[in-house]
Amino acid sequence: MDYIATTLNQTVEALINPTTPVYGADLYTGVDATTLNIFEQWWLKWYVYWGNPVIATGIMSFVLHEIVYFGRAIPFIIIDAMPSMRKYKLQDDKIPTAKQQWDCTKYVLLSHFTVELPQIWSFHPICEYLGMSTHSVPFPSILKIAWQISLFFIFEDTFHYWAHRALHWGPLYKYIHKKHHEFAAPFGLAAEYAHPLEVFILGTGTIGGPFLLCALNRDLHILTVYIWIVLRLFQAIDAHSGYDFPISMHNWIPFWSGADHHDYHHQAFVGCYSTSFRWWDHLMGTDLSYKRYRARQKEQKKLMANGMTDKEAKEALLKTK
Ligand SMILES: [Zn+2]
Ligand SMILES: [Zn+2]
Repeated sequence: MDYIATTLNQTVEALINPTTPVYGADLYTGVDATTLNIFEQWWLKWYVYWGNPVIATGIMSFVLHEIVYFGRAIPFIIIDAMPSMRKYKLQDDKIPTAKQQWDCTKYVLLSHFTVELPQIWSFHPICEYLGMSTHSVPFPSILKIAWQISLFFIFEDTFHYWAHRALHWGPLYKYIHKKHHEFAAPFGLAAEYAHPLEVFILGTGTIGGPFLLCALNRDLHILTVYIWIVLRLFQAIDAHSGYDFPISMHNWIPFWSGADHHDYHHQAFVGCYSTSFRWWDHLMGTDLSYKRYRARQKEQKKLMANGMTDKEAKEALLKTK
């Protein structure tokens, strides 16, 4: 804490006395750093440290993506290695092998370094062009962050539903989306296992909402965008995890998609096109086979709980059809 207080005082000193050479401090001319909370102070110091906002935003974006993506996927790799967790696996006979996970990791990393990294450097200039707050502090209120992120969720889900459905059209599927469907029983790491064009097309749904909102109201902070991207990564990795736990979100928010929904999409190759919410598939009738399949699965589990074997339950259900 002493270190933080000392460096903050040095930054404030530089702001008050411009002759003190602190690189990047001119970003905060007129800001009373003593009124900032601890997170805002860290933010300020990050941008002052790098001096160049394009570099500061670029490094933060890339590092945040890597930490959240792999950090969220690791618990699922561990869960895959635990037989006691098998009862929560949606396709319990298809556990990803170490080779599949490693091949997937190599592909995703290659994509991050070759496709994403060069694009990241244009992120800050685009944000600035659209009037987004980047290095500036203080942060917006929690209420503003919450309603803006809610809008991003709704926008992304709608965009994704239609774009993803389009990607299932013959030629687009064959040349672009097929890559993502290599895993019929997905796992967390496979969330971004996709053709570069797909990353670009579906990524538009993630970043398009913030860009659109910012172009319209010129009142958006990049921190809100980062929180949104972190939540979106959590959503995508959970949806690909292959697990439906009693605490999984769709069990307490009925319109939340979750793995239960998206795992079926990978298993059946059709239907359940949305990301976060179930309403588009429900409205357009693209979840009918999913609903039938899950209802049958539920019946089967009930029969098995009454003493039938897996095979007997399947045969009994076939007879009732
Ligand atoms: Zn698909
Ligand atoms: Zn998927």
